[in-house]
Amino acid sequence: MSEETLRWTIGAVRMTALVEAETSGIPPQFFFPDITPDDIRGVGWLGDDPGVADADNATMAMRVQAFVLEVGGRTVLVDPCVGNGKRRNLPFWNDLSTPWLERFHAAGFTEDGIDLVVHTHLHEDHLGWDTRLVDGEWVPTFPGARHLYVAAELDWAAAPEQQAREGSYLDSIEPVLRAGLADIVAPDADLGGGLRLRSTPGHTPGHVSLEVTTGAERFVVSGDLMHHQLQAANPSLAEVGDTDAPRARETRRAFMDDCCGTGALVAGTHFPVAPVGRFEVDGPAAWRFRSVAADA
Ligand SMILES: [Zn+2]
Ligand SMILES: [Zn+2]
Repeated sequence: MSEETLRWTIGAVRMTALVEAETSGIPPQFFFPDITPDDIRGVGWLGDDPGVADADNATMAMRVQAFVLEVGGRTVLVDPCVGNGKRRNLPFWNDLSTPWLERFHAAGFTEDGIDLVVHTHLHEDHLGWDTRLVDGEWVPTFPGARHLYVAAELDWAAAPEQQAREGSYLDSIEPVLRAGLADIVAPDADLGGGLRLRSTPGHTPGHVSLEVTTGAERFVVSGDLMHHQLQAANPSLAEVGDTDAPRARETRRAFMDDCCGTGALVAGTHFPVAPVGRFEVDGPAAWRFRSVAADA
């Protein structure tokens, strides 16, 4: 394993984080317009995992990563990143050429071996590897997988306004629909084998998280209901992409409250450096994130 490929064993589930990119030194205002330097400097526990944030310079790191869950004989891919060669409006995601697929192979996975692709939502950094360019055409990367889409989210992604903002519908969703590899599911769908979706709207209209129960353990891949560990200390910080900021705030608070109540592990889709851990109460309407080390 490497920094770009981390693995955790949780009950009977093996979970692998496959990093597409991690960027440090980001001015936090880029993601959180209302943030102040004290929102980083005042949160001492952010220093527990060096690299998550830089208190001196008030900058932060951010990851784009997918999680692969091996559970009950199925291999489940969650949120397959930006992808290579996609024409995107955001310059840092435009026409990427990253070794994500090489990392996927090096971790022991094959395209044919993915049974299920779960999308927490349909932003362009959560579905890009669903397709790749073959002879000038975008074709599904995982031909044996069912790709899950929540109806409200798919409607939102297909709307002309959203298609104008992001080009991902035509090159990363439509080819999967055309190939008959898509299943439209409810936002609380039971996926069997201890897996279920859980509606966590606000960031986008049909945003879901993936909840896994394995023996006495419960863990959740959160998606973009949070973008960074620092939102535990200040859940009211809206992210620039939140389509309904008040609802996203409510969802964050309820999510952390619930995870504390049940002791659930959380895998933060954009969390840098140490993305898996637990929330602990750290004051009124404030939490801290305590990371859990990856397998050696
Ligand atoms: Zn998003
Ligand atoms: Zn995202």
